Amino acid sequence: MTLLEPETLAVQRSVPFARTLLCAEALQAAQAVLASGWLTTGPEVLRFEGEFAAAVGARRAVAVSSCTAAIELALRALGLPEGSSVLVSAMTFCGAAHAIRHAGLVPVLVDVEPSSGMPDEATTAQASARCDGADAMLVVHLGGAPADVAALAAAAGLGLDRVVEDAAHALGTRVGDRPVGGLSRATCFSFYATKNLPIGEGGMVTTDDDDLADRVARARLHGMSKDAWRRYLPGGGWRYDVEDAGLKANMTDVQASIGRAQLHHFATWQRRREELVSLYDEELHGVPGLALPMRPEDGRHAWHLYAVRVQPAFGRHRDEVVDLLQARGIGTSVHFIPLHRLSWFRNCAPLPVGGYPGADLAYDQRLSLPLHPLLSEADVRTVCDALSAAASPR
Ligand SMILES: *Cc1c(COP(=O)(O)O)cnc(C)c1O
Repeated sequence: MTLLEPETLAVQRSVPFARTLLCAEALQAAQAVLASGWLTTGPEVLRFEGEFAAAVGARRAVAVSSCTAAIELALRALGLPEGSSVLVSAMTFCGAAHAIRHAGLVPVLVDVEPSSGMPDEATTAQASARCDGADAMLVVHLGGAPADVAALAAAAGLGLDRVVEDAAHALGTRVGDRPVGGLSRATCFSFYATKNLPIGEGGMVTTDDDDLADRVARARLHGMSKDAWRRYLPGGGWRYDVEDAGLKANMTDVQASIGRAQLHHFATWQRRREELVSLYDEELHGVPGLALPMRPEDGRHAWHLYAVRVQPAFGRHRDEVVDLLQARGIGTSVHFIPLHRLSWFRNCAPLPVGGYPGADLAYDQRLSLPLHPLLSEADVRTVCDALSAAASPR
């Protein structure tokens, strides 16, 4: 494997928050597809779907243009009446909640438990009661930490057939001994440039439900009858039917060829993330007021994010820490600005009595540090030294 290596900086090392790792075989595969003349959905997509389904232990996988589209298509395929309520974490990416709206459903925000940043059984039950019993739920595995999908479904009073997972961070996550991908009705993955299996853009729906997979496969391409993409292949007929009001959200063969090549390196990249996380834990252990990410009691964390919490004993607010690290060339991020703090969501739904105190507290303290397979041990030490130096306990 040859990596696209960065320029070496002599004096001050800068550590960007994220960098996209593309293996050499991905570049070659993309070039071969471009040269083949078949650029849209085709045989490479079919192969990627088969390999991806096997990798996550699901019966079927349907490749789409993004995780946002995957969530919308999976929710549409549930066939719920328009206006049905769907529980969604208050601390997730805006696209997830937009997808609920675009599917004709109503997002109902669930507060989070501040140390994990995810809904727990209590906040889930509260939110479900607030909408007189939710009709469905979107479960997020924040940063790659396993969420107990079955326990959350039970807390919401829902069967697993009404649960869709947002696994944008969770390729490689295990809940107990089961990989994320076949735990609920449908699981949605992202291949966005910064995610653990980067393609640039792209998404996948995995499911054990053949009927749901077929519906998503139709709806991703205008609702045209199955395998309409074949109509320009030799022997493909021109006739097709349109069975649903679909989206234009198919994946191209160029994307799929990159994804297939990247998938071969995934296990190695995950091990690298685990090593870097152990180093972060070692270096940051004992810094006052800095709470380190929880390790799952059982199951496996996919370590998409390494998010610490900057607590009052640290002596500086998280925002100040972001600026201090930025001044040293270290990129960080915050996952996520809670949805109720974004204008569009504020205008859609009134804050419930008491608001979302867990999400507000988590938002105030969370800080995501650089974590990707191209990071060196020296990079991690640079980040940890800067963070330790920023602590100002009284
Ligand atoms: C990135 C992300 C998405 C959206 O993924 P796209 O492939 O960019 O549409 C959805 N949910 C979460 C939690 C994400 O981080």
